[in-house]
Amino acid sequence: MDFVEQLKSSVRIETVVGEYVRLRRSGPSRYMGLCPFHNEKTPSFTVHVVHQFYKCFSCGVSGDVIKFVMEKEGLSFYEALKSLAERYGIPMPKRSQYADDESRLRGALLEMHEIAQDAFRAHLNGPAGDVARNYLERRGLARATVEQFGLGYSDRGGRALQHLLERRGFSAAQMEQSGLVGKRTDGSFYDRFRNRLMFPIHNEAGKIIAFGGRALSADDEPKYLNSPETPIYKKSTVLYNLHRAKEAIRKEDRVILVEGYMDAIGVTAAGFTPVVASCGTSLTAQQVQAIKRYSQRIVVNFDPDAPGANAAERSINLLLEEGMHARIMELDGDLDPDEYCKQRGAAAYQDRLESAKGYFYWLADRARKKHDVHTGEGLVAVLQFLLPAVQRISDPLERSAVAGDLASYIGVPPGMVLDSFRRSAANRQEKSIEAPKTVLRPDERMLLNAVLSDGETRSAVVSALRPLEAVSRFASRRIFQAVFALEDSGERVAFDNLHARLEEADQNLLAEAVLNEGEAVPEQAVAAALESVRHSDEQQRREQLKARIKETERAGKWEEALRLMAELETLA
Ligand SMILES: [Zn+2]
Repeated sequence: MDFVEQLKSSVRIETVVGEYVRLRRSGPSRYMGLCPFHNEKTPSFTVHVVHQFYKCFSCGVSGDVIKFVMEKEGLSFYEALKSLAERYGIPMPKRSQYADDESRLRGALLEMHEIAQDAFRAHLNGPAGDVARNYLERRGLARATVEQFGLGYSDRGGRALQHLLERRGFSAAQMEQSGLVGKRTDGSFYDRFRNRLMFPIHNEAGKIIAFGGRALSADDEPKYLNSPETPIYKKSTVLYNLHRAKEAIRKEDRVILVEGYMDAIGVTAAGFTPVVASCGTSLTAQQVQAIKRYSQRIVVNFDPDAPGANAAERSINLLLEEGMHARIMELDGDLDPDEYCKQRGAAAYQDRLESAKGYFYWLADRARKKHDVHTGEGLVAVLQFLLPAVQRISDPLERSAVAGDLASYIGVPPGMVLDSFRRSAANRQEKSIEAPKTVLRPDERMLLNAVLSDGETRSAVVSALRPLEAVSRFASRRIFQAVFALEDSGERVAFDNLHARLEEADQNLLAEAVLNEGEAVPEQAVAAALESVRHSDEQQRREQLKARIKETERAGKWEEALRLMAELETLA
């Protein structure tokens, strides 16, 4: 058995998927849950335990356990194998025939980041690191916190890391793709980060994939310099500190979202561990989805200045679209979260956290500050300001409850507000994706399940179907042809083998057939399905005969016409 097969037979797909999705049993061989690849309120994500396969009937994603891990974690095939093997304690063969160029490059990049991290930490503790150490002291960071977050210093020389990477044998191409060094027009390299306080950025698995560097001298621009996007770093999918915070987020069923590295560090150091930072980018759907796996309750704690409030406002719509329960936490005294924790203490921060407003009260407050609700114009402006957020609530019941609450909070006649919200709610375009149309006949669906069942039923059905021409008119004809081909070549006829041989459209048909039916294949039902196919096969042959008879008559070939008529009679 090859390693991929061995791995797939020793890892249950429902166990792996179950780490990301709450699955409910929905039949003897099926589980269902909310799709982790798109936002939905009613489950259409199905896992088949016999065929070890998943499919979402809304957004259409499908695959086996390896594909699931690849898509969910953003890994290559080889990395997904490795990750599953490590997680479930399955020894992986030494010679890795699966390591492709891409995963080798990614492996090298991860290694280079480890080396850079060691170098940055050593520099921070070395003689040149005093400027960074002074800065950390001024910001009041304890030694243990600096260690915990792996902070470092990139020296001002500008060649140290490049030389180190060269000495360790990394190629120019690998250096160029690492984002750790820049390339001059003459082809020589230089360190991207110079004289900066270094924050390592980890992926969810805890591997360093990028760095953020804060300038330590007033004339260094920009203040924060980040790694560029590389094969291991996609800015829009990463949240700072998620790998440390995820267990706390799950446990407390709440996440605090802050803006900067120092905020995440300061808030954590004050004892609030479920905290992540968006770090300079505006929040993306992928980031929210990453959080959502651990909790749906989020407290947004951005800077108290206007850009911070605007960023919070923008993030609300996205959070609502992803079905998150959002609250907005405001700090007084014009302090950012890090400063607040240091100056006012953990108890004060806790207090602000617990009294964080529901997002719609916060939005209403903002609207009231901008407009006078006692004038007709002001009221219209406020409603227009609030409408987008209300419209983005996907659950209609929640939507109308929020509209009602808002009306009384703004202090206007509820009827009038509700009316305007309802009108726009009715106009709201649902983002639902049409479910794929079923094009399979009930008999072919049953027979597809039969050919995937145990050996005896399969061979009986396969030999009965082979001579029937009606099979070539099935929507699923290519699937049956692939089954015949598998049997001919003596290969194992099983879902994964068959699936691998099909084009995407046919893979979808197959998945649909086994996931909709797929439980049992009662003998009688199989026999009836075979009978129905035989029947349509005969009908088809009769029609073909009739057509040929007409043709031969027209051509005056009477003898042949008579022979065909006799044949037609034996069929009837
Ligand atoms: Zn989906």
